[in-house]
Formats: sequence, structure tokens, C-alpha cells
Amino acid sequence: MSHVLAAVAWPYANGPRHIGHVSGFGVPSDVFSRYMRMAGHDVLMVSGTDEHGTPIQVQADADGVTPRELADRYNRVIVEDLHGLGLSYDLFTRTTTRNHYAVVQDLFEGLFANGYIVARTTLGAISPSTGRTLPDRYIEGTCPICGYDSARGDQCDNCGNQLDPEQLINPRSRINGETPQFVETEHFFLDLPAFAEAIGGWLDRRENWRPNVLKFSRNLLDDLQPRAITRDLEWGVPIPLDGWRDRNDKRIYVWFDAVIGYLSASIEWARRTGDPEAWRKWWSADGEGKDASAYYFMGKDNIVFHSVIWPALLLGYSGEGDKGGQPGGLGKLNLPTEVVSSEYLTMEGKKFSSSRRVVIYVRDFLERYDADALRYFIAAAGPESNDTDFTWAEFVRRNNDELVAGWGNLVNRSISMAAKNFGAIPPAVDLTAEDRALLEVARTGFATVGELIGKHRQKAAIGEAMRVVAEANKYLSEQAPWKLKSEEEKPRQGTVLHVALQVVSDANTLLTPFLPHSSQKVFELLGGTGVHAPMPKIVEVDDLDGGPAYPVLMGDYTEGARWESVPLVAGTPLAAPKPVFRKLEPSVVDEELARLGEGA
Ligand SMILES: [Zn+2]
Repeated sequence: MSHVLAAVAWPYANGPRHIGHVSGFGVPSDVFSRYMRMAGHDVLMVSGTDEHGTPIQVQADADGVTPRELADRYNRVIVEDLHGLGLSYDLFTRTTTRNHYAVVQDLFEGLFANGYIVARTTLGAISPSTGRTLPDRYIEGTCPICGYDSARGDQCDNCGNQLDPEQLINPRSRINGETPQFVETEHFFLDLPAFAEAIGGWLDRRENWRPNVLKFSRNLLDDLQPRAITRDLEWGVPIPLDGWRDRNDKRIYVWFDAVIGYLSASIEWARRTGDPEAWRKWWSADGEGKDASAYYFMGKDNIVFHSVIWPALLLGYSGEGDKGGQPGGLGKLNLPTEVVSSEYLTMEGKKFSSSRRVVIYVRDFLERYDADALRYFIAAAGPESNDTDFTWAEFVRRNNDELVAGWGNLVNRSISMAAKNFGAIPPAVDLTAEDRALLEVARTGFATVGELIGKHRQKAAIGEAMRVVAEANKYLSEQAPWKLKSEEEKPRQGTVLHVALQVVSDANTLLTPFLPHSSQKVFELLGGTGVHAPMPKIVEVDDLDGGPAYPVLMGDYTEGARWESVPLVAGTPLAAPKPVFRKLEPSVVDEELARLGEGA
């Protein structure tokens, strides 16, 4: 058994999440974590809502609420959505806890003490009416290179050149149209070039990464610049240095605080379990976490934060950049083992967009369809290694042809036939070559499917699991146990059904990481009792250090199926099954497309 950290991207709490978000990191990280637990590893799966930064401040202002109130609202919505999908977080928390603030400030101090954070005076854009930093992408103006009139402060979408906001002609705020003021302002910068060599060496030692992620990350090292880690904004983590701590106008930049969430959430989890040092088993680079591995799950737009910036923070805090230094109070910390990035999900050929209503929110989806139907689609047809389009027609087709007619039908016909003819799991006698061959297909599935999930090839993995299902359906059609009715044929009928049910049980275990809700039901239909696929719970907790209470996702995942074939026991009573999956009417497609068009 080893310690496996599943570090899942932090959804930004400025609105409900759509199915594109959960396709990229949510479901794949849960499939991986569930499989690793079933295979006997000690998994810690953490994440939370990312709640600081200008977009939340801007939206809160527009809605007439405080940023905290806005974050509270969407933190709860997101917690409920992820719960509905059955995502098995050990802790899903948020960045507004006092624990998170303390860990962020500790990392800042450690990096500062080692010389990797430097102060600089820069020309920054502020909003004259609020005094807040106007981030580059909130400034718009005419491109000085090509004359495009809607260039952004960070780049021109027309000619593709990188820009600084003060280069724009007629700059204006995208928030309220006013002309930004450019003023000298002091900020702290992370000295990224001091990590180029250490990160390069670390990247050279990476194995099994998706090649595009590795190549992209290496290219980033060629042009590392110091990066601002503070902002003129009152919403965020205070800067933990004398003279700065009590200032209301300067805060740590949201990206710096959010990426530290993996560590702070692990520490919060440990504190909540009553063993405050337990997080070290996943994190201590020179202690009990030495043999741990850490997998980070995200969409491709976040690769830079996980393959360059987060490693830089960890190296600097551990005293391992060009300037050396001493490890901070938490000790030397583990770098990512693997950065698992997915591509984009589009929607009926278009980019997801809340404002243009090209969107399906997780909540709306789960109100009309089962979580496992979505989980199946994401695993079988999601954006694992290519941008992928979600269409309602394809969703309905996969649900009906594969889940219902393939897997659901196998479960239903084998259990109902055994229940009707025997009332229990019949015994197997005198196995034929065909019987043994099918049992072997299912048994070898454990190695094949497990290895593929371990390599983040979930599409191939669920394909292999469904191949076992297809083989079992073929076997049933060929053996036709419904024809074996006479008294002499009865033992053979029982044997065929026993073999089929054994393969249903095995296939159900193989599908458990992907389809946890329905696998629990199939387990029970086969006469199983207790927990087969453990589920997360929403728990209202008090802030550990005196802040306001909040909802988290937690769970006890120690029980449940192991990654192995469990022999069925003849004589276990069976009842006529209820269908596990719902067939969808073809009219669903038109209804959903009409819904998408509404208000567009
Ligand atoms: Zn341009």
C-alpha cells in the first residue's frame, strides 16, 4: 500500500459549474481515486472552492453583496453539485478558511525568508473610482500594433501579440468604462527564473506524462519572468510582512493562494481527523511521505500553475531553488508526480458560455438525468486527450445503446432469469470451455482495466470493462439458458446463469470507479449487503480557528469493494430486479436543444 494524493483543480466560486468543468477534472479524478482505493492504496483526495480575486469582487459589487456572501452562495451550490455526482473527496473545502490563510501566509513567509519573493515598484493600472488594481484582462483598448479596437491589456486577440496595458491606445475599464490610471505601486514578485534549472531537472525525471503536457511545460521554462503575487485589492489573503499585514489595500494574488489549497486542504483534513500531522504521509519529502505519489487533475488552461508555478513554490519553500535556503516550518514538500491535464469539452460544436447560454449546469443536468449516465458519457467520450464535443444526440445514444441495452440488459436478464428459475444464485457444475473462457475474460479485466486507469487512460479502461459486458451478452445469447427447461437440462441452465452472474459481479466491480451509484444497486441485486461504493457526505462544519461555519464534502471510504473478483455463493437469494438504468426518449434531444436556445 502506498500513499496517493489526488489533488483536484479548485472550481472558482463565481457561479454554478457546468458539465465542461466536471468533465475535465471532477469525474476523472474521482474514477482514479476510487480505483486506487479499491486497489489498496491510501488515497487523500482534496480540493475546494477558489474564492478570492477580482472576478468575485466585481460580481459581488454588481450583485450588491459582499465578496464573502457571493462566495458563500456558490461554495454551497458547488458542494451540492459535486456531491450529486458522487465525487469521493476526503475533503472538499474552500479558500476562505482561517486554516487556508495561515498556510498561505506560512508559504509566503518561507519563500520570502529564502529570498524568492522580492518587492518591486511597477506601473500598475488602478480604477480611479475604487482604487483597486485593474487586472490586465479587465482593460481594453486599441492595439498599438494592428489597430484592433478591442485588444485586452494582456494580449491582442486579433494579432496575437502580448501587450502591457499601458501600451493600449485609449485604454478603458471593461468593468465600468472609465479610463484607468497608471500609477507607481509596490508589489511582491515570485522570482520564477530562480527555479528554471530545478524545474527543468524535475521535468526531465517525469515518466508517463501525457507528451503534450510535458512539452508545453518545458517550453514555459524558456521564458520565465518574475511574476506578481500581490494585488491592489481588499478581497484576499493579507500579506504577512511587517508594514503590510494591516494594510487594507494590498492582498496576495488569487492564483498564489488558490494553488496552495492542495496543501492547506490536506492539513485541514488531518486536523479534522484528530491526527494533525497525518497530512505528512502524502507531503513530507524527507519524512513519512517520501514514498508518496501526487497526481494533479485539471483542464489544460491550468497546466502552467501545476507544472511550473506550484513546483516553484514548493521548491522555494523547501530551499531548493538557485538561491538555496532552509525548509520552512512544514518541512521539505513533495512535488507533483504527475500533472494530468484534460482537453476542453465543447457543447453542440460551440464553446461553453454562460452569457450566451451555451451551457448545461451540473445541477440542471442532475435534475433530469442520473449522475452515472453523465459519468459514463464523460469516461467513454470525454475530453481525455482531445477537445471533445458534447451533443445531446450522442448522450442519448450512449445512454440507450451502451448503458441500457448493453450493461443494464445483461444485469437485468441474467438476474431475472436466475430469480425466476431458481430464486437464488444457482450452483455451477461441470464448467465447459466456453464457461471458463468467459470467466477468464472477466478475471483478466482486473489487470487490464486497472492498469489503464492507473495510466489515466480512462476511455480505454471503460472500453475494456464494457468489452467484458459485451462478451457476457454474447455468451448468454449463444448458451440460451432460457431454452434449457427440462429436468435434465436444469443443472446446465443453473451453470450458465451462475457463470453469467459471476461475470456480472466482476464487470460491476470493474465499472465501480466509473459508475458508483449504479454499482451499489447491482451489488445489492446480486444479494450483497453493506457498502460496495462509498459515497461522500455534505457536513456542516465549524471553522477550526474560529471563522464562520461552512459545508464540506467528506466521507469514509475505507469500506467498499476491493479490486478483485469475489466468488458468488450459490444459494444467495435473488429477487426480480428493477431496471438499474433509465432509457431516454429520443424527444429528449429536441427538448434540450430548445432549452439551449431559450433566451439566446
Ligand atoms: Zn493587435
